[in-house]
Amino acid sequence: NSVFDHVVRAPEDPILGVTVAYNKDPSPVKLNLGVGAYRTEEGKPLVLNVVRKAEQTLVNDSSRVKEYLPIVGLADFNKLSAKLILGADSPAIQENRVATVQSLSGTGSLRVGAEFLARHYHERTIYIPQPTWGNHPKVFGLGGLSVKTYRYYDPATRGLNFQGLLEDLGSAPSGSVVLLHACAHNPTGVDPTPEQWEQIRQLIRSKALLPFFDSAYQGFASGSLDTDALSVRMFVADGGECFVAQSYAKNMGLYGERVGALSIVCSSADVASRVESQLKLVIRPMYSNPPIHGASIVATILKDRTLFQEWTIELKAMADRIISMRHQLFEALRSRGTPGDWSHIIKQIGMFTFTGLNSEQVAFMTKEYHIYMTSDGRISMAGLSSKTVPHLADAIHAAAT
Ligand code: PLP
Repeated sequence: NSVFDHVVRAPEDPILGVTVAYNKDPSPVKLNLGVGAYRTEEGKPLVLNVVRKAEQTLVNDSSRVKEYLPIVGLADFNKLSAKLILGADSPAIQENRVATVQSLSGTGSLRVGAEFLARHYHERTIYIPQPTWGNHPKVFGLGGLSVKTYRYYDPATRGLNFQGLLEDLGSAPSGSVVLLHACAHNPTGVDPTPEQWEQIRQLIRSKALLPFFDSAYQGFASGSLDTDALSVRMFVADGGECFVAQSYAKNMGLYGERVGALSIVCSSADVASRVESQLKLVIRPMYSNPPIHGASIVATILKDRTLFQEWTIELKAMADRIISMRHQLFEALRSRGTPGDWSHIIKQIGMFTFTGLNSEQVAFMTKEYHIYMTSDGRISMAGLSSKTVPHLADAIHAAAT
């Protein structure tokens, strides 16, 4: 007898559970396209050279100690992170009106932002895109906000439902928080164009909605750090307030180091400093202070011109490999004459392709071809290689015919 006899088994996480199932499969041809982590052409995880170098520098520096960081994290890291997403010449930074705290990767930054809003913001509702990353509703819901959705994706075009988005945000109560994927929308790979972003910005500002950007893929989508920050910078350039959660999981390959930042762009330096003081009260009872190693790696790279340059080259190589996988898969389906229009594979952006395959087709591909992906038909392009594209194309072809 246990005092926990009543505890029922929880289901596996819908995303991480894919890897659990994959690991159990003994097939030599099995392919894991579920996990949102970069793989090389050889299918191996990648530690960037620039990260190895930064770690070496850190290890060789005997003056470095393992003391606690402040509640808000490493000061250099915070400044450099804000500069990376907002731009080196951002007036908001020059005017000292950005409160930045180091947090536990993208997820932790979103959660800290949610709890701050629940305590200090008058409107408790956040609108998230439909669909969105599966963890968003839970992070914001448990963070104390009430979660609603806005239309985002149009299955018919496998593109943006721009009209639906404008209608839903247009009828959201004034002041509501709006979650926006800064680039490389997960799971759809569908982003607004710059012109559409401008219309979204005007709508959000005219209705006094509060934008909350989730930036999990800066540089990873297009290969350019600046291009992928365009949406955020548009909203900061108008002088209005916004939230940005940044993750270094993908763009520096620091997944397990849990390194990220939350920046709140405020209307004045005075507000920003009061906001920061309250962020500390959110963080202290949650995890006290963030881990030191990952943030030190990032700060070492961001503050050194040569290392920074090297990073941008390695980052672009990852983005380019993913883009090349899109073209290879598209061509493989075309050469097989697979029924349907697959051009969305090359139009979508970032790590994932939202294939349009339904859950039965996904189950079929897993059973017959040992290919693993989330049941919504999302595949990680980063998990593919030139060697595995034909196997995937065969499976999609069989599922679609
Ligand atoms: N936001 C989005 C849209 C994501 O896709 C992810 C990771 O998959 C995250 C946030 C958070 O990732 P992490 O907490 O590893 O930085």
